[in-house]
Amino acid sequence: MNQKKHILLLTTGGTIASVPAADGLQPAHAGIFEREMQQLRTYYNITVRELICLDSSNIRPTEWQLIAKGIFENRQGFDGIVVSHGTDTMAYTASAITFMLPNIDLPVVFTGSQLPLADVLSDGPDNLRTAFAMAAAGYPGIFLAFDRKVMLGCRGVKVRASGFSAFESINARYAALVSNAGLAVDESVLPAISGQPELKTGVCEDVFLLKLTPGLSPRIFDALADMGCKGIVVETFGLGGINVLNESLSAIDRVLKKGIAVVATSQCLYDSSNLGVYQVGTRLLSLGVIQARDMTSEAAMTKLMWAIGQGMTGEEITQLFATNLAGEISL
Ligand code: ASP
Repeated sequence: MNQKKHILLLTTGGTIASVPAADGLQPAHAGIFEREMQQLRTYYNITVRELICLDSSNIRPTEWQLIAKGIFENRQGFDGIVVSHGTDTMAYTASAITFMLPNIDLPVVFTGSQLPLADVLSDGPDNLRTAFAMAAAGYPGIFLAFDRKVMLGCRGVKVRASGFSAFESINARYAALVSNAGLAVDESVLPAISGQPELKTGVCEDVFLLKLTPGLSPRIFDALADMGCKGIVVETFGLGGINVLNESLSAIDRVLKKGIAVVATSQCLYDSSNLGVYQVGTRLLSLGVIQARDMTSEAAMTKLMWAIGQGMTGEEITQLFATNLAGEISL
């Protein structure tokens, strides 16, 4: 008979753990998972530890650090870790944790639900089962499991506010799917491991994600510099366009000269941005703006926060964005 795998469930709150209160759903403590864990204990040896108990709208980089530390320091003796988390900011957390835990040596699978476990029709039990199966499957990396799909944590985006198929894997195939054959893992998607696992939690909070809109005042860049921003991720139009007929380029040049890193992503969810195609993009490249190619805005944002938090120079940040660390970018 197969030995049961040892899985650690780290809880952080979110809808999955929520119960109704007078003013709306509120996360309850880890005990809320007990009924579900009793059933899963038929298949796994399970330890449950509560890290935090928050709606994920209240999760900040400080909590990312706590979660990364919780994973790193508690992992000994476990085959895999499941992290339950609110869905609203799960893509940011899963991306940030990907960068904070280079070469993680076991599967870490984020999951949550759209309906609380306390509801008889909750999608939570199903999502937990997929997450536990991936955590027990032995493939190291940071993953996100939802609606019978498993994706790289750094490729997940929440695309539905209430539908059960809440997450999509953007510009990357699923890492695994549940079918009538069980959990089918696509090994070509898995992150490459290239050294010893590390805990590198330094992140800079002074990074801003700016969505361009027609008519947006270029003064926004100076305002961000005045606020003390150290990095700006610009969601450009389409393949990487920006209005070059107003003062945008000189404003970006000013912030770059102040040592602020500027990274360009696309407002389009799918496909890769490519600033080299149109004149309205090449001008950005010639200033020294970094391309995020096919990364999600969540991954670009957290990678930049992490790079600055690790004390990297502008040159090193440019190099970092031309490097695929864990499957977050196709080069
Ligand atoms: N507001 C909740 C949260 O992100 C939503 C969810 O978990 O689905 O914590």
